[in-house]
Amino acid sequence: MTRRTLIAGNWKMNMRAESAAALAKGIVDAVGNTPPVDVAVCPPSVYLAPVADVVAGSSVGLGAQNLYPESDGAFTGEVNAAMLTDIGCRYCILGHSERRQLMGETDKDVSTKLHAALAGNLIPIVCVGETLEQRESGTTEDVIAKQIEGSLAGLDEARAAGIVIAYEPVWAIGTGKTASKEQAEEVHVFIRGLLTKQFGGEVAEQIRIQYGGSVKPGNAAELLAQPNIDGALVGGASLKVDDFVAIINAS
Ligand code: PGA
Repeated sequence: MTRRTLIAGNWKMNMRAESAAALAKGIVDAVGNTPPVDVAVCPPSVYLAPVADVVAGSSVGLGAQNLYPESDGAFTGEVNAAMLTDIGCRYCILGHSERRQLMGETDKDVSTKLHAALAGNLIPIVCVGETLEQRESGTTEDVIAKQIEGSLAGLDEARAAGIVIAYEPVWAIGTGKTASKEQAEEVHVFIRGLLTKQFGGEVAEQIRIQYGGSVKPGNAAELLAQPNIDGALVGGASLKVDDFVAIINAS
């Protein structure tokens, strides 16, 4: 089973209209028409529309960083899946650790959003990962198992194959500390085992599992060479054309 690598840039709460368009343009130009991997950029929601214009017709996909799992209505300040697909999004990051920690998102919230994303024809990128404290106390597998089980609750086999999981150890996000390729692969194998139990081997083999957490040009190649690491969710290094393109080229 060959899974197509997905390199996605999570721009978080960064950029302005002009710099967002310039970054997207730089990536589109560098990536060309037939990249050997899938590439996506996930700008802040206010810049999705202008970036959509820049990536339209290119091989660079557009992703959102969050959605609100309701249809149109009285939800001041929120954006739903229908709006995201309407302006050209293909992906939506869900349950990023920053949202879990700062906005109190739970696994239950993530699963509700997952179903809304799929109903809206978005490819969900579901983030899971342990904190440093959890890793040091030896509970990484328990934490990941609980997050996977809760976040993917109610997901059927038919739809499971199309989702993306991002394993992002919280201690490696924005810290400059990357999980070693062995540490990352070990958790990816564990996650694939959980997916196998839940959806069967055939489906689990199709699900892409990205690694995220201080992925840089210097460490991307060895991480992406691991058999169960099917891409990267890149934060800081996705804000510079050269760094992001170097990560794409490393895969
Ligand atoms: P980082 O962020 O690459 O800056 O560590 C990754 C992420 O949070 O998705």
